[in-house]
Amino acid sequence: MVELSKFIDQIAAGQDLAALKQQAQADPALGIYPASLHEAGGTVLFMVKTATEKKLVAVGDDGPIFAELSGEESTEQGLKVKTCDLTVENSLVIRKYFAFTNPRSLANEPTSFGVGDRLGLASPGHLRLFKEHPNVRPVLAQQSVRELNLTGRDFRGVLADAVWAVFQEDYRLGYGADGDHLKELADIKTALDEGYTMITLDCSEHINNLHPDQQAEIDRLYDALAPEERAKLEEHFSGKTFNLKTGLSLTFTPEALKLNAAIYQKAVNFALRVFNEFIKPVQDRVDFEVSIDETATPTDPLSHFFVAEQLINAGVKVNSMAPRFCGEFQKGIDYIGDVKQFEAEYIEHTKIAEHFGYKVSIHSGSDKFAVFPIIGRISKGHVHVKTAGTNWLEAVKVIIAADPGLYREMHEYALKHLEEAKKYYVISGDPERIPALSSLSDAELPELMEKDDSRQLIHITYGLLLQAKDENGQSLFRDRIYQCLHQNEDLYAEFLKKHIGKHLELLGF
Ligand SMILES: [Zn+2]
Repeated sequence: MVELSKFIDQIAAGQDLAALKQQAQADPALGIYPASLHEAGGTVLFMVKTATEKKLVAVGDDGPIFAELSGEESTEQGLKVKTCDLTVENSLVIRKYFAFTNPRSLANEPTSFGVGDRLGLASPGHLRLFKEHPNVRPVLAQQSVRELNLTGRDFRGVLADAVWAVFQEDYRLGYGADGDHLKELADIKTALDEGYTMITLDCSEHINNLHPDQQAEIDRLYDALAPEERAKLEEHFSGKTFNLKTGLSLTFTPEALKLNAAIYQKAVNFALRVFNEFIKPVQDRVDFEVSIDETATPTDPLSHFFVAEQLINAGVKVNSMAPRFCGEFQKGIDYIGDVKQFEAEYIEHTKIAEHFGYKVSIHSGSDKFAVFPIIGRISKGHVHVKTAGTNWLEAVKVIIAADPGLYREMHEYALKHLEEAKKYYVISGDPERIPALSSLSDAELPELMEKDDSRQLIHITYGLLLQAKDENGQSLFRDRIYQCLHQNEDLYAEFLKKHIGKHLELLGF
């Protein structure tokens, strides 16, 4: 990195951080991210963009951080210089010396917004946006085990990518790290050990999908509960009306109690167990979200209350709760359903959450523009919204703009392998309705990312595309996708700012 010599001369000459930042800004050819200039104990650090990747450069071995970082050492102007890869180990050193790069609990922030970043490249763009919306805090690292498996990443790597972005952009307002949709105790433990500050517990495997007319099954499941548990539930709920301080009134007939206990009691007990075993010891720094959204039918507000009432009374510190809403929250496309009915139910869910003092959490929040104004108005900013796949789709838009040939190959591959992807994701998109690629000019390709069928095709095949290998075991797309996005980092940031910015604006954040 010969071109950096001049810059290192300035450090050797004792220029202060502000002057160095100015110089990095004035000379973009250096490839230095101006906001990444930091100092720790006399060692100056900054991030730089090379043709193929980003590096961290540490100049001067005065600070103990210099010795702790791993990298290639050289000497410039009598100063020790270390050029470091953006590894997990080096990110841990950065976290040790720069407190703001650590994720933290967002329990005291009314508004939070999850931006799952499947590639680990989106956070710089997100942070440039969130700097302009200081009322809402981002959850940058937010991946489910399903996503980790499909992308070939792990919790520590995902968090490290967020740390580097926070350091690069010098974002100091605080961010969260969410082990999303976790079902297994071992995964919860791993995420907590890696320093995640939010756990989203997926209770779906403990929820029985029942309809009120399945009386025999309801009776069977209810009778299978321990007698003392049934007695407790009956005493608390049966024939009782709960007048919430937010003005909602909820009544449990004996039948409604039986139905809700048959559907949800195992999930309640699972959440209780997970909280007491894993979250309680760290509840001051970890936000606990209970998700009951991956079910066959929408969550009745009465059921939402049934679950929350028991958890709160048992001392569970719930930070957010994700019910399943009426209508469809499909991946990467707008809300499908009756907006008026959504509003009526959303008001009730919000009244329950406000009564207990937690946030409603909106899952699959990508692109739900039809309901964002309702969510914003009713929640008054007291809400958590999660997006994920839409950030990948913005990456694909960059690929279409910069390397349409690569996009065409990805599109063909996705079409061929769509059935495999449908095992993981439910969509209504129909490949038959997607125009043949050969009929579209490069200039027409961006239109594909405006149409639901092609959006969903690309949305759900991300894992297959990233993992695809040729007959020699070489990646078919992964390396080229990463290179293309590295070379077009600013365009990706611009797209994300605009697209996620539209989410925040419609939500009124
Ligand atoms: Zn969910």
